[in-house]
Amino acid sequence: MSKMETLSVKVGSGAHAVLIGSGHPIVVQTMCNTSTGDVAATVRQCITLSRKGAELIRITVPTLQDVENLRQIRDALHEKGVFRPLVADVHFSSDIAMALPGIADKIRINPGNFHPVHEKARERFAVLMEKCKVYGTAIRIGINHGSLGSYITEKYGNTPEAMALAAMEWLEMAIEADFQDKVVISLKASNTVVMVEAYRALARLMRKRGVVAALHVGVTEAGNGDAGRIKSAVAIATLLEEGIGNTVRVSLTEPPENELSTAYYLAERYGLAHTGSIPCQLTERERYILDAACAYGPKLLRGEIEDFACDDATLHDEILQACRKRFYRPEYIACPGCGRTMYDLQGTFERVKAATAGFSNVVIAVMGCIVNGPGEMADADYGYVGEGRGLVTLYRGRTPVIRHIPEAEAVEKLVELIKEFSA
Ligand code: SF4
Repeated sequence: MSKMETLSVKVGSGAHAVLIGSGHPIVVQTMCNTSTGDVAATVRQCITLSRKGAELIRITVPTLQDVENLRQIRDALHEKGVFRPLVADVHFSSDIAMALPGIADKIRINPGNFHPVHEKARERFAVLMEKCKVYGTAIRIGINHGSLGSYITEKYGNTPEAMALAAMEWLEMAIEADFQDKVVISLKASNTVVMVEAYRALARLMRKRGVVAALHVGVTEAGNGDAGRIKSAVAIATLLEEGIGNTVRVSLTEPPENELSTAYYLAERYGLAHTGSIPCQLTERERYILDAACAYGPKLLRGEIEDFACDDATLHDEILQACRKRFYRPEYIACPGCGRTMYDLQGTFERVKAATAGFSNVVIAVMGCIVNGPGEMADADYGYVGEGRGLVTLYRGRTPVIRHIPEAEAVEKLVELIKEFSA
């Protein structure tokens, strides 16, 4: 299928700008997991990510102080000759977003939490766009299934179509402000069926409207290892095969540089990646699982097949589970972590997986922060949310049921909690 025609968005300036849109190769991006307050560590990580081919690097900006930290990170990178465009990730504060034009090259906002009052959110977004115009700053309208916010669920519901309609409302605001060629839209979900349906619905609506914005595609909270790569690959490949997607993030609960080889594989398979010689190599294992995920995942997600033959039983089961055709183990939702994460998320996720592998028909989330984690857990049955300072809160659904327990006890308590309610 040919690539969907979209507007093109310029992120950054001069020779180092990156163009996102249908006339350009698919852009590969990732996100730092260092604390933004630790300027030196974030600069080091940006340099590593840049060397390994990240074309856009996102950094969380959780406080106004971090706006200044981001400025220092940008300046230090420029001094070292690293000019990758930087994307600021903002949640729960339109004030922080307002302070970022001129510092970040692109600002990711989440309509679900941009401002608690919807009318205010609309007003603030209009002001933000005007500020961004002054500096040439782009915006990502980043809707997540797990954090739609009450105005979206009350107004549109909690479905893939609702996500697309909410995105259209924000795109209409951008059109009204003549800002449509500076916005990129994402509609992420951890559930691959929801994610694929949401982007398809948005593509239909934008075509009908006659204004097609550039799209950032990715599966959120995909987890790690083979399972995380497969889950991202089946959904992203499905969309890219259908011509949908201009920039890709493969979100893994691993060091962020590990995301890049899978993202490049997808960008190369379905459209040229920007970098001629890709600076990160796939392992043999990655190539093996990604070849299978891309061969069968899109067909499974489109309903063209219900199963497939594969000598590797584990790979077969993982692909079917990623496409939500069969559940042979717990479904895990784990965020990649970012500068808000205050504990060993990657190690904890491995411990949770090991302790809960024997359960079935259960969705377990492991989230990196107490601010965003609970809202992003989507349809998890149980959640492990690290608060930092050695404390954890456990959730059943969206309800915190065991609060502020020491990390050392938390995995065991999670297992007890699951046993109690699955008995
Ligand atoms: S849920 Fe995870 S990725 Fe999202 S803000 Fe919190 S730590 Fe960062």
